Amino acid sequence: MTEEARQPKYPRRPNRWIKLWVNECLRGSIRFELQADERCVWYELLLMARESRTPGIIQATPGVPYPLTWVAHTLNITEELLERTLQRCQMTDRIALNGGSIQIVNWEKYQGASGPDGAGAEEGFVDKPKISKAQQRRNEMAIEKMRRKDEGLCEYCGSAGHASEKCENAESKRYVF
Ligand SMILES: [Zn+2]
Repeated sequence: MTEEARQPKYPRRPNRWIKLWVNECLRGSIRFELQADERCVWYELLLMARESRTPGIIQATPGVPYPLTWVAHTLNITEELLERTLQRCQMTDRIALNGGSIQIVNWEKYQGASGPDGAGAEEGFVDKPKISKAQQRRNEMAIEKMRRKDEGLCEYCGSAGHASEKCENAESKRYVF
């Protein structure tokens, strides 16, 4: 077999595993802060966060969250359990919901290659996605647009006084942030 033929067909992806910290999982505060079913969902959220294009943040694309129904469906759990877990994890500072995206708060500390054990560095874990200022701005604008929509505000200017289609910006599709 030639050297070339031994190469894997696809390059190894750096998102194939997560770290579960033995002492923290067995004896840490998670044991009494989350119920058994919530702990299971928490660990599966870590898996989803690892697979994300922006490791540590569960979202469709930067700044665009998945609907919670989709997340619940993906994990085949009830929305009640998902919401209960998210709520409990927010209360205990495990996650933060940024515009609906699920962010694992201490991701880099526990899952990053630069964590105390350095594990993952050999697989090329890169946990800090390079997002340009312009992309960051676009993400923030996308989140703001969704917030306006959710709250029934004009999507163009954010006003509560008129519907989007009545906005003076509607014709030119000009968004004011
Ligand atoms: Zn308007």
